[in-house]
Amino acid sequence: MDIPSDISVWQKGFTTHSASETERAGATLADLIPSDTALLLEGKLGAGKTTFTRGFARGLGINGDVTSPSFSLLTIYQGQRQLLHVDAYRLTKPSQWDSLLIDEICESPWNLLIEWPENVRGKEPKGAWTLKIENADNDARRLTLKKS
Ligand code: ADP
Ligand code: MG
Repeated sequence: MDIPSDISVWQKGFTTHSASETERAGATLADLIPSDTALLLEGKLGAGKTTFTRGFARGLGINGDVTSPSFSLLTIYQGQRQLLHVDAYRLTKPSQWDSLLIDEICESPWNLLIEWPENVRGKEPKGAWTLKIENADNDARRLTLKKS
């Protein structure tokens, strides 16, 4: 399928039918989202948040492994932009966010992608966008974007 390149279609929502389609969606959004913007990735375990992030990394020209930083909490990649990937699954208190020193680390141009953003409510950067990934049938996932 063609991944929509029109933000208004992302806001209405569309469905991917495989992990590789979700990766391609990630690469496409890397082109559409402005730099110095955070993206909150909502969705339950196995929804495809890390898969989407891997594609986003590919879109920035980052070709190595991209996995969930569940224990390290934060992985930093360098491509056409700096990509900061946070997995907040194990962040039990929003105050733990402060110890990641994200504000100090970000070097423009950057994008910050956050899995389990519900664990860092109130700490998300201003102007963050949100992508909701919902399981549909089998390998289908519904992606819906909210701009700030
Ligand atoms: P999360 O980070 O949200 O826990 P992952 O990206 O690690 O999720 O895992 C998603 C799993 O679902 C992978 O095993 C992937 O192959 C599978 N999958 C099947 N269909 C899709 C799809 N349409 N989009 C994303 N992942 C899919
Ligand atoms: Mg993950």
